[in-house]
Amino acid sequence: MKAAILTIGDELTCGYRLDTNSQAISQRLALLPIDVALHLSVSDEMAAIHTALHVARHVADVVIITGGLGPTEDDLTRQAVAAHFKLALEEDAEALTRIKERFAHRGREMTPQLLQSNRRQAQIPTGSEVIYNERGTAAGFYLPIQGKHIFATPGIPYEMMGMLETFILPHLRELLGESRSTRRAAVKVYGVPESQINEMIRPLLTRERNPLLGLLPHRGTITIEIVAAADSLAEAERLIERDLVTLRAILKHHVISEDERELPQVVADLLVERELTIATAEIGTGGLVAARLTEPEGCEHWFRDSDVPQISISDTLSIEAAAAASDEVSGEAAILAQVLAARQAAIADIGVGVGPIISSDNARRPHGAVYVTVNLQGQESHHRLSFNGDRNRVRQWAADAVLDLVRLQLLKERL
Ligand code: AMP
Ligand code: MG
Repeated sequence: MKAAILTIGDELTCGYRLDTNSQAISQRLALLPIDVALHLSVSDEMAAIHTALHVARHVADVVIITGGLGPTEDDLTRQAVAAHFKLALEEDAEALTRIKERFAHRGREMTPQLLQSNRRQAQIPTGSEVIYNERGTAAGFYLPIQGKHIFATPGIPYEMMGMLETFILPHLRELLGESRSTRRAAVKVYGVPESQINEMIRPLLTRERNPLLGLLPHRGTITIEIVAAADSLAEAERLIERDLVTLRAILKHHVISEDERELPQVVADLLVERELTIATAEIGTGGLVAARLTEPEGCEHWFRDSDVPQISISDTLSIEAAAAASDEVSGEAAILAQVLAARQAAIADIGVGVGPIISSDNARRPHGAVYVTVNLQGQESHHRLSFNGDRNRVRQWAADAVLDLVRLQLLKERL
C-alpha cells in the first residue's frame, strides 16, 4: 500500500509557512509500515487541488490531505474534493452541533453570519465519514472511493495530529489487514545526537525487521518509536520488551523516559521522589529553565525561586574579551554560574546557576557557549555547554541541557 500526502494552503506555496505536516505524517506512516510515494503542496485554488488530487490518486492508494478546511472563503478543500469526484457536499448534523457547542463553551455568540460561515466546516462529500475534531472546529472526513482512501484534516498541526492518531492511523492499520496485533513503545533519549544514535543502534533500524524503529528528534530529545506486529498481543509485547532491553543497555543513562514523559516531567518526578526543592538564577537563559521547570502540575511543591540577575556591561565586556582571547574557558562566566548556583542553593535543596550566553562569532567560534553550575546541597557540578546557531537557538537548547544536568545530578545522588 502506498500513500501520497497533499498539503493545501497559500501560506505554504508562498513560503510564509513550512509544510511540517507532510513530515509528521510520513514519520508515522513509515512505522505502519506504509510507503509514502509523494508529497505535494498546492495553493488554495480549485484547479490546483484538482490537478494535485489527480496525480496523488494515480500514484497512491491512500491520499492524506491537510489544510483548507477552515470557515473562510479561501478554504476550498471540501468543495475541491467533492467536485473532483463529482459528489455533492452534505452537512453533518453532529459536526454542526459540536461546532455550536465549542462556540458556547468559549462564551462566543454564534451570530447568523458566523453560523453561515461555520456551517461549511460541518460539510463533507457524500459517501464520506466525518472525522470529528476534538481540538478545533473544522471537521475532517474519510472518503473511500474507486478503490482509494482519501482522508482530509485541517492544516493546523495540532488538530491534524489529533485526527491522525485517533482516526487515520487506526483506520490504516485495519486496512493493512491487521489481524495481527500491534504494540507501540517510545523511548526518549537526551544527550546523544541523532547521527550518533543511528550509529549505536544501526542493526535495529533496518526496514526489514520487526519491530520497526523510527527516530523523531525534537531539539536535543530524540524519541525512538518502536512498533511491533505479531499474531498475538503477548508476542508483540515480548518483541517490544526485547528491543527495550537492548536499547537500555546501549543508551544507558541517556534514556530519560519510556512513557512519553519529556525532560520537565522527568525532572519533576525525580524531585518529588527525592523530596527536594529547586531554585534557579539564569543570566543567559533568562528564565527559560524556570519556565520549563514550572510546566508540570504540582510544581509549587518543589519549585522555590527563579531569578534573572542583571549583569553589568563591564562584566559582559570582560567576559566577551576573555572568550575572544581563548576558545576554551571564560573564567568569569564560569564563576558567575557558580556564585549564582550557590546563592540559590541557600533557599532550596538544588541551586542552578546559568552564566551569560557567550555568542558565537561565526568566523572563529561557530558555537555559542554557556556555563552552568548545579549545586545539590553543596555538591557542585560545573559544565560548559556549547551549541551551534544564533543566540535564540543556543538559549533554547541550553535550557533543555540544564534540565538534563539536573536530572543527571539527581541520578548520581541516588546511586
Ligand atoms: P487551514 O486548515 O488551511 O485553515 O490551516 C490553518 C493553519 O494551519 C495555517 O494558517 C497554517 O498556519 C497551518 N498549516 C496549514 N498547513 C500546514 C502544513 N502543511 N504544515 C504546517 N502548518 C500548516
Ligand atoms: Mg488555509
